[in-house]
Amino acid sequence: MSAQPPSGGGPAAHLDPSWGVGTRAIHAGQPPEPVTGAVMTPIFQTSTYAQPHPGAWPWEYSRTHNPTRSALQAALAALEGATHGLCFSSGLAAIDTVIRALPTGAKVLCGDDVYGGTYRLFTKEWGRFGLQFTFVDTTNPELVVPEGTALVWLESPTNPLLKTSDIAAIAAKAHAVGALVVVDNTFATPVFQRPLELGADVVVHSTTKYLNGHSDVIGGVILTSDDALAARYAFLQNAVGAVPGPMDCFLVLRGLKTLHVRMERHQQSARSIVAWLQGREDVARVHYPGFGGMVSFVLKGDLDAATRFVKATRLFTLAESLGGVESLIELPAIMTHASIPAEVRAAIGLDDGLIRLSVGIEEEADLRRDLERAFAAAAAV
Ligand SMILES: *Cc1c(COP(=O)(O)O)cnc(C)c1O
Repeated sequence: MSAQPPSGGGPAAHLDPSWGVGTRAIHAGQPPEPVTGAVMTPIFQTSTYAQPHPGAWPWEYSRTHNPTRSALQAALAALEGATHGLCFSSGLAAIDTVIRALPTGAKVLCGDDVYGGTYRLFTKEWGRFGLQFTFVDTTNPELVVPEGTALVWLESPTNPLLKTSDIAAIAAKAHAVGALVVVDNTFATPVFQRPLELGADVVVHSTTKYLNGHSDVIGGVILTSDDALAARYAFLQNAVGAVPGPMDCFLVLRGLKTLHVRMERHQQSARSIVAWLQGREDVARVHYPGFGGMVSFVLKGDLDAATRFVKATRLFTLAESLGGVESLIELPAIMTHASIPAEVRAAIGLDDGLIRLSVGIEEEADLRRDLERAFAAAAAV
């Protein structure tokens, strides 16, 4: 990696524009370490750096810059086709930074089916500071972006209903009134969707999920090709200090190397489980956007049946989160989306009995047998 910390947290040069996603995941921003030739980016577990002359050394303090973090930022920026990447200690810290950069009183138009923690941060915290949030169905092709909107916040596919929005069409409408478009791309990953190429200004991720992929890190990132926005986010990254440690950055870099291979397998198994669920009499509805590894469905019967179902699986672990190599199962209304009021959940069609699957990369036949067992347990009273 270069001796120079990239300005604004942007990527160091190690990127060939012709590289595809899989090659970027393994190599972008991650040349062999120049001192020893170490193939894997080292964990620069240091808070500070010896300066040869007062103020002359570009690396000064690890809240501001850290070489392991810089490598991860460069790799993630390359994957989304951004020129700048800024990593944070969680997805929510990244999301918080995007909102914090807005002026007081700014109006935000937000999807009505966003991650529960995003909804909680916007309504319970940022509302206090005079920011105004309006929640709308961004999957509606007639969506209007009102004059005076500062920012449009999108999740596509949404969580847990997995509805998709037309990012390019919304970006055109938003830009016509001078609004920024931010896409939380955690569910799709840059393997299946690159919002900046569709006209979005900023992408955020919870790297906790697919990008790391091994359920052992909490982290987040902001990606953009807008130099002024990147400078503002870099200022906040340093001024607020919600930065990830070098060990966590190393783990995400390591996980990232298999991103494209994992995503293909997640998708292959998810598609075949979806086809199987759709053919079952005991399933009322299946939600799947056609790509990726997330599936949700409504079991016929009551909440007790859904509860028996999620307690009966052995390979699908009953847990919050998603995007790891291991399969997870959960009940959004009681778990991940419990912070959304019941009447709001009802209004957006989030059934109390909705079951969400994060389909892992275990053998698909084993996963299906595991779900078979849960169907039997749900039916037995
Ligand atoms: C998990 C998640 C977040 C929050 O990320 P953390 O790393 O848990 O802070 C934000 N958006 C989506 C879509 C998520 O799944």
